[in-house]
Amino acid sequence: MLKIDDLQVHLDADAGLVRAIDGMRLTLARGQTFALVGESGCGKSMTALALMRLLPDNGRIAAGRLDLDGQDLFDLSEARMRDVRGGRIGMIFQEPGTSLNPVMKVGAQIVEAIEAHTPLRGEAARRKAVDWLRRVGIPEPERRVDEYPFRLSGGQKQRIMIAMTLAAEPDYLIADEPTTALDVTIQAQILALLKDLQRERGLGLLLITHDLGVVSGMAHQVALMYAGQIVEVAPAADFFAAPRHPYARLLLRALPDADRRGEPLAAIPGTVPPLWQVFDGCRFAPRCDQAMVHCGATRPLLADLPEQPPGHEVRCLLYTDRREALPRPAAQPA
Ligand code: SF4
Ligand code: MG
Repeated sequence: MLKIDDLQVHLDADAGLVRAIDGMRLTLARGQTFALVGESGCGKSMTALALMRLLPDNGRIAAGRLDLDGQDLFDLSEARMRDVRGGRIGMIFQEPGTSLNPVMKVGAQIVEAIEAHTPLRGEAARRKAVDWLRRVGIPEPERRVDEYPFRLSGGQKQRIMIAMTLAAEPDYLIADEPTTALDVTIQAQILALLKDLQRERGLGLLLITHDLGVVSGMAHQVALMYAGQIVEVAPAADFFAAPRHPYARLLLRALPDADRRGEPLAAIPGTVPPLWQVFDGCRFAPRCDQAMVHCGATRPLLADLPEQPPGHEVRCLLYTDRREALPRPAAQPA
């Protein structure tokens, strides 16, 4: 199990210290897909970077625990964390361009990953590399294995990156918009490959996406993020059948048909607040069609839905009166 508990990420911004990710928690089991969804800028990628301990310079993990099979990864030395990255937890980023070594043949880069993380060596590792190229949909893999990255298109580079990450045979994969840049056919092929790997090897997948169409076909659990917080988390079937949070309802009402998959979420009025904004009340209140008088000054906590089995949680005052205790005003000097 990969388990995040009460993750807090702070950013140093011009306006001061910002609670960019606030109270994130999720549990990812082997063989399961946990989808983290939300509009861009809501903190999905920031969460992924925090999990890999790859935050930008102005960010830090202020609190929380990241538990992998009983060990807190936030306590590991950087050297031990490097072994975890790639070997135990793989990550596919949105922007693949920078991660490939331009002066090394793509096959050699995949072989390097195979030799570092699996028992295969030499010719056997090379054959495996060709096999991975084929599985991610690279045409003529026997020839492409000896190509340099600059000879490849952006979409092919993205698939090489996916091949390299999977070739290390990680137990968990964090995939941040893994197929957004790919055309629909290749996208379907990659998603089918990830499903196969779940069945074959029990891959645990944290799928980060703005595309609810992809989520509905893949996910066991769904967490919807808004402005750095999870606002609803539920088994996927419950989430799609009966979403509760006003934001989830607006998004699903606007969900495009399955044949329009890959399109961004339909626009709902207003914009996602920046991660550095400070909030007095519910972060969704300015866009909420069910906002109540006290929503602007009360910060709801994520809480189990009363009439549901545990595991369906919502952060909204329509369902819970659990709220953040506001800081006491500073004592006046005598
Ligand atoms: Fe809307 Fe209020 Fe619920 Fe926030 S707490 S989502 S403003 S109803
Ligand atoms: Mg992102």
